[in-house]
Amino acid sequence: MEFPKTKEEITKIIREAKNSGKTIGFVPTMGALHKGHLSLFENARKDNDIVVGSIFVNPIQFNDPSDYRLYPRNVARDLDLLSGKADIIFLPEESVMYPDRPTTTLSFGHLETVMEGSHRPGHFNGVAIVVSKLFHFVQPDAAYFGQKDLQQVRVIERLVHDLSFPLSVRMCPVIREASGLAMSSRNMRLSPEGRETASKIYRGLILSSERLKLSGDASEARKQAENYYGNIQGLKLEYFEIVNAETLMPPQDVHGKEPIALCVAAWLENVRLIDNIILFS
Ligand code: AMP
Repeated sequence: MEFPKTKEEITKIIREAKNSGKTIGFVPTMGALHKGHLSLFENARKDNDIVVGSIFVNPIQFNDPSDYRLYPRNVARDLDLLSGKADIIFLPEESVMYPDRPTTTLSFGHLETVMEGSHRPGHFNGVAIVVSKLFHFVQPDAAYFGQKDLQQVRVIERLVHDLSFPLSVRMCPVIREASGLAMSSRNMRLSPEGRETASKIYRGLILSSERLKLSGDASEARKQAENYYGNIQGLKLEYFEIVNAETLMPPQDVHGKEPIALCVAAWLENVRLIDNIILFS
């Protein structure tokens, strides 16, 4: 594995790979890796000659300074986990990504007015800027993102489309613990009891999806979920939404004609957790 740290180092390695006609699959991450991340690398490996990852905790996508400060970091362990799974890991310092703070703003219309967008102002602008810069450095043929962050995937698809990045965006399924809890770097901040409680987040999604399929009534399924989460001690629901999984707009039909996503964000032990499931895709 190679570990470029600067723009010049990564650009040189990528130029050589491109010159020899190799295809490049790219997995951007913020580190503190788990099996969810590793599944993206496995998918990238299947489709491409060279697998490039990046580890960079992107300060400009955190709207909450304590979330940025407390975000788990363990690059040595990450590199162990990636051994054999990636060929190149880009490890930029903040000064490499941001010699100065970007003043460009990228906005995404409806996609950033709902759910994560409305609760994390500026978040998707920060994501879109870092991902754009990484795409310029790595020049991937395909980039891999997790459905765990469904709204992020939709924003990046829009970014790639609108700015004509020459690559395809691939969305990979949510990898879960045996308990159903969606794997997340932030789970490391939960106590053992907190992890147990957190597994109920997925349970609520399943219960609500069953109700939705039976009743065909999104607002009833949403109310049921809100009641369910409201009764979990220690958990504070931030939002629960049922949306069209492509557009993130309110669904027109919940009987199987359009893909439906049930999306949730909740706080537990001062940690913000998100999850979703997609029906009828
Ligand atoms: P992060 O390091 O949190 O920025 O995540 C890097 C990538 O891993 C993003 O595309 C995430 O959606 C994806 N990811 C995070 N958790 C999971 C998971 N449990 N299953 C699949 N992909 C995930």
